[in-house]
Amino acid sequence: MFRCVCSLLLLALTMSVEAAGPAAAHLEFRIVIDPATRTLHGAGTLDVPAGAPTRIHLDRRFVAAEMSFEGKPLPHAHDRTDAWVLPAATTTRRVTMRWQGTLDRLDLTMDHRDTLAAPAPVAAPEGTFLPAPSHWYPSAEGLLETWRVTLELPRGQRGLVPGRLLEERDDAQGYRAVFEFTHPGEGIDLMAGPYSITERTVTLAGRSVRLRTWFAPGLEGLADSYLASTAEYLALYDRWIGAYPYTEFSVVSSPTPTGFGMPTLTYLGADVLKQPFIRATSLGHEVLHNWWGNGVYPDYARGNWSEGLTTFMADYHYKERESATAAREVRLGWLRDFAAVPEGSDQPLASFTSRTHGTSQIVGYHKAAMTFSMLRDLIGTEAFDRGVQEFWSARRFTFASWDDLRIALEQAAARDLRWFFAQWTTRAGAPRVRIESADRREVGGRWQIRVTLAQDGPVYRLRVPVSVETDQGPIPHIVELAAGTGSTELDVPHRPSAITLDPDLRVFRRLAADEAPPILRDAMVHPDTAAVVLPTDSAWMDAAQNLLAKLLDGRPRFVDGTSGPATAPLVVIGSRADIESYRRRIGLAAPSKAGTAGSSQVWIERVEGNVRLFIAARDPAALSALARPLPHYGKQSWLLFDGAKAMERGIWPTVAARWRFD
Ligand SMILES: [Zn+2]
Repeated sequence: MFRCVCSLLLLALTMSVEAAGPAAAHLEFRIVIDPATRTLHGAGTLDVPAGAPTRIHLDRRFVAAEMSFEGKPLPHAHDRTDAWVLPAATTTRRVTMRWQGTLDRLDLTMDHRDTLAAPAPVAAPEGTFLPAPSHWYPSAEGLLETWRVTLELPRGQRGLVPGRLLEERDDAQGYRAVFEFTHPGEGIDLMAGPYSITERTVTLAGRSVRLRTWFAPGLEGLADSYLASTAEYLALYDRWIGAYPYTEFSVVSSPTPTGFGMPTLTYLGADVLKQPFIRATSLGHEVLHNWWGNGVYPDYARGNWSEGLTTFMADYHYKERESATAAREVRLGWLRDFAAVPEGSDQPLASFTSRTHGTSQIVGYHKAAMTFSMLRDLIGTEAFDRGVQEFWSARRFTFASWDDLRIALEQAAARDLRWFFAQWTTRAGAPRVRIESADRREVGGRWQIRVTLAQDGPVYRLRVPVSVETDQGPIPHIVELAAGTGSTELDVPHRPSAITLDPDLRVFRRLAADEAPPILRDAMVHPDTAAVVLPTDSAWMDAAQNLLAKLLDGRPRFVDGTSGPATAPLVVIGSRADIESYRRRIGLAAPSKAGTAGSSQVWIERVEGNVRLFIAARDPAALSALARPLPHYGKQSWLLFDGAKAMERGIWPTVAARWRFD
């Protein structure tokens, strides 16, 4: 399943924040690419602002026919062949350059993870993708860039780089277009393919913006709906945050299943684009990255706040628009995912830079989004919105940290928020909150309640919602908790029967066992998950190993059927009959609340404080069929499969933390 991981995350590896001052390098070059022969020829200039000696990089697959300054060739860096040293100067330094080379062959079997791991420049008639971190053009180390790029392609091919389209010619001689990017950006990504272009112009607060789809054959029918959705998202964020900073936005199809957000465009896999939910969620998320991530750049060394803020104002916002119930479901999912993270194995938000595995997504996207939700509950929607508007206008096209974000929100809310950001961004983990005690008494026809909440471990300052349940319906209250315990007196007009803790799940906290029924993710993300394969023949073992390599974040440790880890999750794999006899042996009740239909059944249970994930398959082939789909169902408690198709699935019910008076 598709997940956004934006190009800005790739760039985190190559950019040095300290080096990125207000000055930017400026590139002007012409690039000629023939996707059929995979050849690239480039020529132009690179202007580097005055300063200390600066390194110029170009990937070693290219040959620089010229790399000169003031008519003289630049010397190579002494330690590497893909870098040159530009001497110090007190005025702008212009490097003249010509380079050429052969691009890698596009590998259609690459998935998104492969593309992220190896940012290589690839070409083929089906699609060409030159990511900035692949160093496909000479760039000055550590500097943001502005550019003017002339792109030439053979007839039938069309392509683009981020920026404003200044000129375009498309005829029997081929395709030629000029793009200009005048804000300091993080680097140039180039995309080309046998695209058909659909265009529409929209007006945002009096400014006109050119929207385009660049779609491969077969996707043309989706163009109008993508343009309409893009227009809606741009209008939403233009009003909400501040003026969209560009004159275009493009949705570009990729032959491989990637998902990237770059300034002025998003590059999405063709198969991804066909999924109806992409237009409803991911497209808006990528559009919003033009503000958060590609508009204000995260100061990676001090934590990437941009994924959390984008998730909060895109994915989560769309759920809030849908209904309160839908938004609560999202919060429950986030908290349940976090409950699956073994205690002590998550990082503080300030350490999150990019998504590398399941746990970092749970923190960097979900905990961060929930932090923004709590912040908005604390300071109110109006102050929150003013704060992000202030942050945008003060920080656009510069690097910004969690602290910069805090300062903008403090100004808008006119209050000190240091404690809030300190406890949510610099600490790992989450508070555990419980109702310690509660009593009630009737006074003159009304009811007085004294409720005491408690938390363990490092103390958080929390505003915990509670709901007093009465025969006339629930009555909401807030309990302030700023120490290990905190008590509040409540006065209600009706006879109370119970108090429920945080019924709407508004506090980021570690859910109690009953509040967080087990989901597959409990076994998937634990670093010490072990596995037992009950059948002894090699066909089962091979299928199991292949499945577990895809399913688990860590490497599985295989144990035999008689022992199991006392403190970590265990995956139990076998035929239905194997699993039933295994369960009898360890004294578990009859299996399968999940049912017995299909070629395989998967379900997770909590057994003596630990989880066991059962995978019952008809035969090794049925087990093998789970390798592709199952890793995408981490949020479920049980599934029934017919081959690789999930026929039914579900989550065990949640039980709220409740104090009963009777
Ligand atoms: Zn993102």
